[in-house]
Amino acid sequence: MFDTRYPAEPYRIKTVETIKMNTREERLEYIKEAGYNTFLLNSEDVYIDLLTDSGTNAMSDKQWAGMMLGDEAYAGSKNWKHLESTVQELFGFKYVVPTHQGRGAENLLSRVAIKPGQYVPGNMYFTTTRYHQEANGGIFVDIIRDEAHDAQLDIPFKGDIDLNKLKALVDEVGAEQVAYVCLAITVNLAGGQPVSMKNMREVYAYCQKQGIKVFMDATRCVENAYFIKEQEEGFADKSIKDIVREQFSYADGCTMSGKKDCITNIGGFLCVNDEELFVSARELVVVFEGMPSYGGIAGRDMEAMAIGLKEAMQEEYIEHRVKQVRYLADRLVEAGVPIVRPVGGHAVFLDARAFCPHLDQSQFPAQALAAAIYVEGGVRTMERGIISAGRDKVTGKDHAPKLETVRVTIPRRVYTYRHMDLVADTIIKLYKHKEDIRGLKWAYEPKQLRFFTGRFEQI
Ligand SMILES: *Cc1c(COP(=O)(O)O)cnc(C)c1O
Repeated sequence: MFDTRYPAEPYRIKTVETIKMNTREERLEYIKEAGYNTFLLNSEDVYIDLLTDSGTNAMSDKQWAGMMLGDEAYAGSKNWKHLESTVQELFGFKYVVPTHQGRGAENLLSRVAIKPGQYVPGNMYFTTTRYHQEANGGIFVDIIRDEAHDAQLDIPFKGDIDLNKLKALVDEVGAEQVAYVCLAITVNLAGGQPVSMKNMREVYAYCQKQGIKVFMDATRCVENAYFIKEQEEGFADKSIKDIVREQFSYADGCTMSGKKDCITNIGGFLCVNDEELFVSARELVVVFEGMPSYGGIAGRDMEAMAIGLKEAMQEEYIEHRVKQVRYLADRLVEAGVPIVRPVGGHAVFLDARAFCPHLDQSQFPAQALAAAIYVEGGVRTMERGIISAGRDKVTGKDHAPKLETVRVTIPRRVYTYRHMDLVADTIIKLYKHKEDIRGLKWAYEPKQLRFFTGRFEQI
C-alpha cells in the first residue's frame, strides 16, 4: 500500500553504521552505572539513539565532498566566505559571525545586547539560551501563549508569543528595560511547537514601535517554515526557501545552532543587522571562539554547513523530516500513549505525568521514564521536565514546569520508518506495565545545567 501520509525517504543509503542490541540484564546494569541519566550512557550500549537531534544528523554525499574542500587557513578561509554568503542569501541578515555551536552565538548576543537588570522576554525558554541571558544579568520572562503549557490541547502554532503578555511587561517596566525579545522558532521545550508568520509579523511591528529589538532562536527555522506552509493560510504555494526568508524579515538578527537545521554535526552562527552590535560581537568572538572567519569551526565544517543549509530548504527533505516524526507520534496515539499535542517537527514528547500517574513530580517521573524506556528496548531518550528546568537563581527552589516530558528526538536522515516502529513498540510495551516504573531521587546534583551530568538513585 502506498500511504501518502508518510512519504518514503527522499534519499538512498550509501554508507552504513552497524548498531547492536544488548540484553535487558545488561541494560539494567548500564543504566544503574549511568546514575539513571541517559546522558551518561555509552553510545555503544544504545540501540536506537533518540537522545537528541543535535549534531546527530547524517550528512549527504555533497556535504562529505565539501569536507575535502576545507580551507583550514587561520584567516580568510574560502569556506567562511561560502557560509557567510549562503546565510546572507537564505536568511537575509546583513552580518554573520560564526561560532562553534548555537550557545556560542547565545553567549555573544547576551553579552553585547543585555545590560544587567534588563528583561529578556521569550516564548518559553531554552536551557543554554536562558543560562547566557541570566549570566549576563538578564531577567527571563516567559511570554508564550498559555495554551503552550497544556500538553493535550491540539491546536496549531502553540509556540506563538502572547502579545498581551509582552505589552503588559513593557507597560510595567518600560521599553528601555527590555533588552530584546527572544523569539524561538520552533519552541523546543514546548514540544517543538511552531510559531505562525502572523505572530512574528505582529510581534515585530509592536517591537519596532517600541524601539525593542527582536532576535530569533533560529535553530529549527526550516521545520517552522514547513508548519507554516502546511497550516497557515496563504502559504501553501510558497516555497520553503521563501517562507524561511520571510520569517527572518521580522527580526533584527538570530542565533543559530548548525547542529539542527543545517544538517551538520557541529557549528553555529550569530546574525545581526545592526552594525554596532556586529562590531561588538566580532570583537568578542576572537576571545571566546576564534577569528571572525572561523569562530571555532574547522573550514571543512563550515563548508558542510553551507551545503547542509541549502539542502535543508529542499521541499522533499523537510516534508519527509516532519512526517517521519508524525508517523511515530501517530503510532503512539493509536495505542493510547499520552504525548504532547500537536506533535512538533523534531521530536515526540511523552507526557510523563499522564504516563506515570503514580509518581509525583518530586519523584522525577520524566527522568524515571527515560531510564525505563532504555531498559525496555535499548532506546535512548531524554528528560525535559523538572530536572531540565533547574532551580530559581534567587530562591534556590526547583522550577516546577507544567510540562513534564520525555523527549523522543529524531535525528535527520538517520533512521527509517522501521526503526520508528521499533521505538513505538518499545514505548507501547512499557506503557502496559507502567506501574513498575520507580521514582528517582538525587545522588549528585550539579549546580549548572544539571540534567547533563546529574546522577540519581531509585526510591
Ligand atoms: C540546541 C539548541 C540551542 C543551542 O544550540 P547548541 O548548538 O546545542 O549550542 C539553542 N536553542 C534551541 C532551541 C536548541 O534546540
